[in-house]
Amino acid sequence: MCIFCKIIQKEIPSSCIYEDDQVMAFLDLSQVTKGHTLVVPKKHYDNVLDCDPETLAHLIQVTQMLAKRITERCQAKGVNILTNCNEAAGQSVMHLHFHIIPRYDENDAIVIQFNESEKQDLDALKNLLQ
Ligand code: AMP
Ligand code: ZN
Repeated sequence: MCIFCKIIQKEIPSSCIYEDDQVMAFLDLSQVTKGHTLVVPKKHYDNVLDCDPETLAHLIQVTQMLAKRITERCQAKGVNILTNCNEAAGQSVMHLHFHIIPRYDENDAIVIQFNESEKQDLDALKNLLQ
């Protein structure tokens, strides 16, 4: 059983802030910023790519509700909502989770930066992807 399944089964303690029949949300052990929360489905999916659409729809609705609550109650100025899929994308726990990371200012201990790498052929990519 994975570590988040153990948290859901209450075999491992967590700081739970929300729970319903499908979803649980608990504070991330390493608080990137104050209020950093993980929202997980109770049924195990590895990540967004293998999750059934109905569960995913409920998960993102709960995530939105909690992101509003956390932003307001922690008096944050913004919030990052993000999810990693697979190790190459930085996923370390292979149980689907959305991170809610409230943002206070530019000195927060998180940097999300989009850098352009090599030039891509957008027409070829468009044909590949549409
Ligand atoms: P990711 O790298 O997107 O897979 O994120 C996994 C997150 O799970 C990290 O931010 C960890 O700090 C967090 N984490 C790992 N174990 C626990 C735990 N037992 N309770 C709360 N958060 C955890
Ligand atoms: Zn699991």
